[in-house]
Amino acid sequence: MTKLLKSMKDKDPGRVNMSEKKLNGTVIVTYRCNARCSMCNRYKAPSKPEEEISIETIKKLPKMYFTNITGGEPFIRKDLKDIVRELKKKSDRIVISTNGFFTDRIIDLCKEFPDVGIRISIEGLEDTNNQIRGLENGYQRGYETLKKLVDMGMKDVGFGMTVQDKNACDLVPLYEISNNLGMEFATASLHNSFYFVEAKNIIHDRIMVAENFEKLINRLLQSNSPKKWFRAYFNHGLINYIFSQKRLLPCDMSFDTFFIDPYGDVMPCNGTKDKEVMGNLNEQQWDELWNSKMADEVRAKVRTCDRNCWMIGSVSPAMHKYIWKPLMWVIIHKMKFWTKNKYSMYENKIVRDYKEGRISKEFLDRCSTCDMNSNVNNGLSKESMEQLKGKTGEEIVAEDLKNQID
Ligand code: SF4
Repeated sequence: MTKLLKSMKDKDPGRVNMSEKKLNGTVIVTYRCNARCSMCNRYKAPSKPEEEISIETIKKLPKMYFTNITGGEPFIRKDLKDIVRELKKKSDRIVISTNGFFTDRIIDLCKEFPDVGIRISIEGLEDTNNQIRGLENGYQRGYETLKKLVDMGMKDVGFGMTVQDKNACDLVPLYEISNNLGMEFATASLHNSFYFVEAKNIIHDRIMVAENFEKLINRLLQSNSPKKWFRAYFNHGLINYIFSQKRLLPCDMSFDTFFIDPYGDVMPCNGTKDKEVMGNLNEQQWDELWNSKMADEVRAKVRTCDRNCWMIGSVSPAMHKYIWKPLMWVIIHKMKFWTKNKYSMYENKIVRDYKEGRISKEFLDRCSTCDMNSNVNNGLSKESMEQLKGKTGEEIVAEDLKNQID
């Protein structure tokens, strides 16, 4: 436990001298995607390959203590190895989020970079996963890729699951599979933002979904791994989130954390309704951009942001920075556990109020970020939007992949 706290403190950027300050960064290398996930419509709005972030722009990024590479599907880019090679010069740890479809490319990259982390999105057991992700044999391919990585001796591999009505029942079974394989198990729930292209994601049966989170939380608390106890806290935060409550921890995105999109636009996060731009790294140098008036204006918006997202990208830095809050929660719940009082989702007042009819479903729906009528700006450049005239995103990416093979 002492070791874990020390490592968390060491990673806290707020405790590091400003001149050596390392940031937490997410690099969205492409908006192209070959999956058809029901909760993410990014495949309908791909970026143009020739506009996507270049090695020259990657070279301008600052030092980072953690970098997440994501998309779209990052492995659609044939030069991903070059990107990782460059990022390794400036980042202490790299994790790539992928749908696991391009097995050969993933294995090839991991042979060169065995210390990179790989998170494969698997949305449930076979049928559920394939139904949600819309990838033929998606589960089998993802699972086999993970197995191959483990057999290769890769240490940092795991599942990522976005929990929703359709797959909540598979949450604990999938955790057990990952646990038996000695893999990491990361969870999320439905969010709406420009990044997901449409704003139609919402949990309908909140109690059923929360019950499954409750079971997972108790499995995690039962383990002997401090890392899993903190994961339990994260999942407790997801119950709070699906009931549209205020975030359990402050959001400091854009202060010590950033996202960069395929066009070189630097943003605080991927959770805002419209794209919020702090500056463009194709055109500017990092220090100029990070200390600009535009960046400060975005920071002012973050301070009053009421979207209350609970995604690992914004929560993990907050858990490190405000460690005492999750730590107290862990201590209290481990103690409770030892007295046979397990974690209960009804510890959350809002869950009790809802169950007992003091709060209606309609009220919670209105408080969520789901808005069927909203026009979400999909974050594409003018040129990328142009290519959608007369062709769908799916057709564009299918053609693109065909060309990569030919
Ligand atoms: S709460 Fe934080 S992560 Fe979510 S949209 Fe607002 S600024 Fe972004």
